[in-house]
Amino acid sequence: MALSAQAAHSLGYSSHCLKLAIPLMVKYKIPITPLNYAIWYCYVSDKNHDLNKELDGFISRFNGCSYEQANYLFNKYLSVNDLSLFNQLSNSFDDVVGQVQHDLTAALNQSTQFNQVLYACREKLHDADISKERGFDDVLHCVERLTNESAALQNRTQDFQNQLALAYAKIITLKQELIDSKRKAEKDTLTGLFNRGKFDEDITVFCQRDDLAEIAVLVMVDIDHFKVFNDTFGHQKGDQVLRAVAVKLLKYVASVGQVYRYGGEEFCFTAQFTSISDMTNFTQQLRLAITKLHIKDPASTTVLGYVTASFGVAIKSTNSQPNQLIKKADKALYLAKKHGRNRIEIIEE
Ligand code: GH3
Ligand code: MG
Ligand code: MG
Repeated sequence: MALSAQAAHSLGYSSHCLKLAIPLMVKYKIPITPLNYAIWYCYVSDKNHDLNKELDGFISRFNGCSYEQANYLFNKYLSVNDLSLFNQLSNSFDDVVGQVQHDLTAALNQSTQFNQVLYACREKLHDADISKERGFDDVLHCVERLTNESAALQNRTQDFQNQLALAYAKIITLKQELIDSKRKAEKDTLTGLFNRGKFDEDITVFCQRDDLAEIAVLVMVDIDHFKVFNDTFGHQKGDQVLRAVAVKLLKYVASVGQVYRYGGEEFCFTAQFTSISDMTNFTQQLRLAITKLHIKDPASTTVLGYVTASFGVAIKSTNSQPNQLIKKADKALYLAKKHGRNRIEIIEE
């Protein structure tokens, strides 16, 4: 059977594409199946512009690619041969495991062989008649055989240990690469905060938790008039502000919860407090801390502008669903904007 163009790629190139494709698949929550992998491999290797265009369309409209959409793309652009690449890569995992199994079987066979030699020598020694000259020869022969066999066994054991160490190192590297790419896929590149994908995963767990303190909240934070800021001072200054706000949020929220960049100039955090007043005090202090951020003109050190943000707080009830909670926080944020910005609105269930 002819190999497909992808399967014919070198293993180095394939691993390179694996490192690009897996984080994307994790980001969009695409199950890592041979069919999906074939599609995303093709996507990152940029070989088929039509496929990329259609997949980009699915990503922007649905923030991912469903099972049905993946089947559609596969039938339209790829062939069964394209599955062989995924198999080739997963085979490299299997190869490592297979090699260990093979070495282990060989080592077991060798030690069985050594045992057989031991038994044979024991019999021979038992039967050796040292009253005759030939008896001494038999003993000498046994000792010689045992010496040779144990030296050979030692060498083989050393080889086996080396093989095991190699396999171990290979598995550790593969595992670390997978962990690193998953971690990378959870972070927002501009601010270093956890991103929206990670938030979507975590909010479900947050809603299910029953060990949280009295007041558990989801808070949406949106920078005020950021568009004007960007238009006035430029996109780069805008990025600087986003980073500064992220640092401030992280500094405050780290001790009470988890902060994320929700998208654009919107952030959010989940947190827990022992009382409503603790929660409002904390959020007010955070709001005030953000108002202290300002952009200076590097030449004259004149303050060019201040930063403010609006806060929408949704207080979680025991059976809050993620979508409900997000909707409540969004509504509270909308009210904070409507009531004049640089303020906090709270919605309780
Ligand atoms: P509001 O007070 O109602 O929130 O007004 P706003 O101007 O902050 O909100 P709007 O949604 O109108 O504009 C958000 C702006 O954020 C527009 C967009 O250019 C900017 N923005 C989004 N992401 C980034 C980014 O990564 N970097 C920069 N510099 N700007 C961004
Ligand atoms: Mg805004
Ligand atoms: Mg906004």
